[in-house]
Order: sequence, then C-alpha cells, then structure tokens
Amino acid sequence: MRIDCDALIVGGGPSGLSTGLFISKKGFKTIVLEEHNEVGRPEQCAGLVSWRIGGLPQHLVLNRVDTARFCLGKESFEVYSKKDMLVIDRAGYDKHLAENALAEGVEIRLGERVVGLKEGCVVTSKGGHYSGRILVGADGPNSIVARLTGLKQPDNLLFALQCVANGVFEQDVVELRFDPEFSKDVFAWIIPLSRNRARVGLLTSGNPWPRLRLLLKRLNMESSCGRFVGDSIRFGMMSRTSASRVILVGDAACQVKPFSLGGLVYNRICSRIAGDACAAALERNLFDGGFMAETYDSVWRKTIGGALEKGLKMRKLFNIMRRIPFSFTLTRILGLSLLAGRVLDPDFLRNSPVCQNGCEAF
Ligand SMILES: Cc1cc2nc3c(=O)[nH]c(=O)nc-3n(C[C@H](O)[C@H](O)[C@H](O)COP(=O)(O)OP(=O)(O)OC[C@H]3O[C@@H](n4cnc5c(N)ncnc54)[C@H](O)[C@@H]3O)c2cc1C
Repeated sequence: MRIDCDALIVGGGPSGLSTGLFISKKGFKTIVLEEHNEVGRPEQCAGLVSWRIGGLPQHLVLNRVDTARFCLGKESFEVYSKKDMLVIDRAGYDKHLAENALAEGVEIRLGERVVGLKEGCVVTSKGGHYSGRILVGADGPNSIVARLTGLKQPDNLLFALQCVANGVFEQDVVELRFDPEFSKDVFAWIIPLSRNRARVGLLTSGNPWPRLRLLLKRLNMESSCGRFVGDSIRFGMMSRTSASRVILVGDAACQVKPFSLGGLVYNRICSRIAGDACAAALERNLFDGGFMAETYDSVWRKTIGGALEKGLKMRKLFNIMRRIPFSFTLTRILGLSLLAGRVLDPDFLRNSPVCQNGCEAF
C-alpha cells in the first residue's frame, strides 16, 4: 500500500528531524523514514558544539570547555573562548529533537531503510512505498537520495573514529593534535567529559584504526577505552543541493565546517532554511528546480557561505603551519593565540546577519 504525505524526509538524524519539525509546524503532513530502530543510535559524534546550537535541556550538556589547545608534537598554543563550548550527549540531543518533532505532528517511522525509487515512490527494504509532494534527503554523507536524484555529492571523504577513554584530563580544555601520524588531513581530538573520562578520536583520509591505536598508545590509554564508533564525513561545496521536488540538507548537502568538519550548528541553521523552502513550495504548489534553488540553495549559501570560506582559509593555514612545527609555539610567543580568542568565532558566523542569538532564535 502506498502512503502519501506532503513532505517525505529520508534520515532521522538532527537535520531530518529539525527540517521535519519546521515543515510540520506550518501544517503539512510530514513523514521521516529512519533506517535504524532507535533515534540517536549508534551515537557517532564527539558532541562538541558552540552555544549557537540553541536552548538544550541542561541534562544534555555533559561538560563545558573554554580552552582549545592546538598541539603539534611538543609545540602548542591555546585559544580561550569568550563563551563556553558545550560537550553534549549526542544520542540524547537526537532524541530531544525527535520528541519536539513528534510534538509538532511529524510521523517518524523507524527501521525503514530507503533502497530505491519506483514510479514516483520511495521504496524501503521492508517493501514500503511512500510518496511525498516534496522529498528531503537528510540521509547523511552517503545519501541515497542524492544518488537517486542525480544531485552529485563531492568525492572528498574522510573517516572518523573515536572511543570514550578513562584517564586524567583537564576538564575545561579540548586538545586538538595536528601530528601527521594521527591525521594527515585534519586532527585528532581529546574532548573531556569529566576529569577522568574523555572522547578520544580522529578524522583522517584512509583507515583510521591504526592511527587511533597509535594515539591511544601514546596516551597510555589502550586498555581503558570503551566502545569504538566511527563514520565517514563528506566535505566540499556542492554545485546544487536542490532540484525539482527535492532538496538535500545537513551532511547530505555537505553543510559542515571545513576546518573541524563539525556539522551540528550549520545543519541546524540549514534545516530551518530547508523547512521554510519546503513549506513555501507546498503552500504555492510550486516545485520547479528554479524555485527550489532560489528559496533554498541561494538562501543557505548566503547565510553560511562566508563562514564556509573562512573555515576553508583556516584549514589551509593549519595545513601550512603543520609543516612548520615551531609556528605553533611562535603563535603563542607572539600573543596571536590571545588575539585569536578575542576575534575568532567557533562557527565563523560573527559577522553573519543571522544566528547572532543562537539557532533557536534564528
Ligand atoms: C566521529 C564523529 C564525530 C563528530 N563530532 C562532531 C562534533 O563534535 N561536533 C559537530 O558539530 N559535529 C560532529 N560530527 C558531525 C555530525 O555528527 C554531523 O554533522 C551530523 O550528525 C549530521 O547530521 P545529519 O542529520 O545531517 O546526518 P546524520 O546524523 O548522518 O543522519 C542521517 C540519518 O539518515 C539515516 N539514513 C541514512 N541512509 C538512510 C536510508 N537509506 N534510509 C533511511 N535512513 C537512512 C541514518 O541512519 C541517520 O540516522 C561528528 C561526526 C563523526 C562521524
């Protein structure tokens, strides 16, 4: 039997749940299809976000940090943040978004993996047939919606792997390690959950396992680790993230920070824009590619495009710095890290016309 709705969303992660909420709020029947049987699981995230993520229930904030230590071998500098960064319970965050979406009338169907498109319907592995007046691909870095609708994702793929380790940590300091032996492309991280537990992980091209094992060995934490989790992250600017009756949002649209590859804040901003664009198309019964590009593509690019460019510049700068280890110490000696703490914005959104008051108010 075919199930019809206004907006059909593939992917019950933060982007799909937030986009669904914004569409449903405008009175449209919205269904989210999620392949897993539980929202938020498996939990594949370090959960480090800025205050811009918006109002969260206190119990979801596991720790607050105000210092980022950038290290390369024995060289290092620290950047102090004016506003605390939050370390959140990522599975709890997704569940919180799901509860809010359900309260606004979104229908979330778990255990429904989308496998194809047939005669205008999305088909799931259980044989379900779903049809929406608009289709939203919020299905992450290896989006089947992108593949099926010809919206080409970039080939740049990195692999993240992390575990929770026991040890002794500075509770308010996040450590980012740029040693090429841990990650040639991005960095390894130690994100404290408390004084004696931290998320330890890295993001790299190629196989992350030997690199993470090496990092844990160097930290003397090989035997104190809990479950390992990992996933891929895709990055780069997509030429199109919408077409007639379809849009991509979140990691599926590569809306991630080019420097850290964190996606939660940008996903949240773009989910709002996606929700508004879908609602506008549904209200006007206007779904052609031009309208979708105007109401979605160009709006999100205008909103976070400048931030993406700054993040990319930052990434290039660090790729130069990591070839000259002393540059890390020089940054500290010259007081540039103090300056960076004053002028840098963790989301590169300081001058953006939106989101000065957090995603909630946006
Ligand atoms: C190890 C790791 C650490 C990270 N740390 C941070 C961090 O500290 N801070 C930060 O901001 N970001 C971080 N990120 C990035 C962040 O997790 C992503 O930006 C965010 O999860 C993207 O949300 P999304 O909803 O767009 O995609 P996802 O969270 O990937 O959600 C996509 C959903 O779609 C579902 N799905 C996929 N295919 C199908 C299908 N065919 N049918 C049905 N459902 C499907 C998936 O099961 C999933 O639930 C990290 C990522 C990783 C891998």
